[in-house]
Amino acid sequence: MTITTEQWIELDGAQGEGGGQILRSALTLSMITGIPFRMTRIRARRSKPGLLRQHLTAVQAAQAICDANVTGAAISSGELHFRPGRIKGGDYQFAIGTAGSCTLVLQTVLPALWFADVASSLSVSGGTHNPMAPPADFLIRAWLPLVQRMGANCSLHLKRHGFFPAGGGEVTAQITPCQALSPLQLTERGTSRQLQAEAIIAGVPYSVAQRELDRVKAQMSYVDTKVRDAGGREGPGNALLITVMHDEVVEVFTGFGEKGVSAEKVANQAAEAARHYIASGVAVGEHLADQLVLPMALAGGGSFTTHVQSSHLTTNLSVIEKFLPVETNMTQCDNGTWLVTIS
Ligand code: ATP
Repeated sequence: MTITTEQWIELDGAQGEGGGQILRSALTLSMITGIPFRMTRIRARRSKPGLLRQHLTAVQAAQAICDANVTGAAISSGELHFRPGRIKGGDYQFAIGTAGSCTLVLQTVLPALWFADVASSLSVSGGTHNPMAPPADFLIRAWLPLVQRMGANCSLHLKRHGFFPAGGGEVTAQITPCQALSPLQLTERGTSRQLQAEAIIAGVPYSVAQRELDRVKAQMSYVDTKVRDAGGREGPGNALLITVMHDEVVEVFTGFGEKGVSAEKVANQAAEAARHYIASGVAVGEHLADQLVLPMALAGGGSFTTHVQSSHLTTNLSVIEKFLPVETNMTQCDNGTWLVTIS
């Protein structure tokens, strides 16, 4: 098929949130719909605008998987033209080369591989537990079970932890193609099953984990605690995960260890986010919300309740509406929470 210039979707990378997600969602949707796009002002609202290693790797991964014709794929580039070909399943390995987030690269290309011609395996190396990105555990515990419920046949495995600034982590995926996804309604979280706090340490003293868990126990009742020692070779690094399990949905809230930031502060960061979510009564927390809408739109519909109308969420909805014939709605309920529907 010859694509005429009129069929290109034009996107302004500075719209709304103005970060990397606009680009990643456009790549995913372009691969799946076959519609080419041109994006200008990529990540214009960030302090270092243009493509960083993580975004460039996402572009290169998408290009490799669907034989795309691409211009502008270079570090710092603020403009990209992407014309996709056919999605090809197979065995793929991508290395970000920095602590850039593996999970964000995975989330870009996984949906395309759900609809490939043959099964695939995928390995992405880089950061697995980065501030401002979904930690691998979030993807595996919170996001993956929901896309599996929609019908995606895939598994994810955290092979090695990677923290800022060293990176060096790896996440792998196995994908068996499916015909289509089914809509998911997630307006209730269901009965509470378990609350768990897990401190990950890699080349960091055990006392850091202990202090983080003590702080969480002081703030949250009925919390099970656990230490995961990833060993010095996968560090240095530290993260504190709070996993909130209900029958219908699992949520993960993370505090990221940082030089000069106390263990107590790291624990507070995660505990505050978890408590805010628990008190709200909604099904889906802030980060999961903006990451669920794309699979739901691919399924042709879905709904969920959430407690934050983030600019990641509203921006992602507007990018999705440019590629797919779906209508998205956010309705505020009497108690201030939101019902998001995609139809
Ligand atoms: P930049 O903001 O520098 O462009 P970016 O490419 O990493 O960086 P964003 O557009 O900010 O991208 O998107 C970040 C994504 O990471 C969003 O989907 C957001 O919900 C998710 N995210 C951020 N922090 C967390 C967290 N603690 N847990 C789960 N997901 C997270």
